[in-house]
Amino acid sequence: MIILLFIVGFSFRGTEDDVIVAVQKHGPPNEIPMLKNSPELKQTMKGSTYADSIIQKEKELIQQEENQKIVYLTFDDGPSSDANQLLDVLDHYRAKATFFMLAPQIKAHPEVVKRMVKTGYAVGLHGVTHDAHQFYHSKKSPLHEMQEDQKVLEKITGVKSTLIRTPYGSVPYMLDSYRKEIESYGFQLWDWDIDSDDWKSNSKAFVYRVINEIKLMESVGKHPVILMHDRGPTIKYLPILLNWLNKNHFVTKNLEESMDAYSFKCNDRCHPFGS
Ligand SMILES: [Zn+2]
Repeated sequence: MIILLFIVGFSFRGTEDDVIVAVQKHGPPNEIPMLKNSPELKQTMKGSTYADSIIQKEKELIQQEENQKIVYLTFDDGPSSDANQLLDVLDHYRAKATFFMLAPQIKAHPEVVKRMVKTGYAVGLHGVTHDAHQFYHSKKSPLHEMQEDQKVLEKITGVKSTLIRTPYGSVPYMLDSYRKEIESYGFQLWDWDIDSDDWKSNSKAFVYRVINEIKLMESVGKHPVILMHDRGPTIKYLPILLNWLNKNHFVTKNLEESMDAYSFKCNDRCHPFGS
């Protein structure tokens, strides 16, 4: 404080950086009433050195954030019996990820779900039956499955997640009325930008498909949400993808409840299951 008084109040000769250093150490001068009317400070503010520097620094921080190359890895249908291995791989690469999990799987493998929460992964809901006929049966059925899944997850981990992904994605069976209903209960519906199609084969082809799409999205400044599954072959080849992400300076992040959830829009494509 004394240093700040000295610098700002009596003999301001420093550069903008000096001010920033002083402010970082001691807080902004307008927190100190006796300094508010200091003629020297007024002069400094008039010259805009202090205020402009702070705004400039803030702009730079926002810019840095915007310039970050971010991807969101998501894994559906788990936790599988291989989920511990999946976490080992992610941990090894210090990657973040979000898991959309089924209630029966959570009950079958509770320890690994606890590990996810403890390690700082995001946990989300994928319903109970994973049966399109049952899940999309009525306006209330997706809500009821997610509420049950939410309870199961909360009982085991203490986390009441509102992040949801519906089986097979929200289009075409998640009618607008179904969406409104489930969102009115605070659930946040997530689809994806990149479908890895990892379930289509047991090969590593999905990795290269994903890498190509990440490159495309990155070129237009998008931060893609990538759909994968918690399954053996995906886990086996995941290191190739994580390695590539690291080498190319991508950052992986969790989906957060504070984010605007991204879901597909119906745009006349939605219809009830079976019709
Ligand atoms: Zn699924």
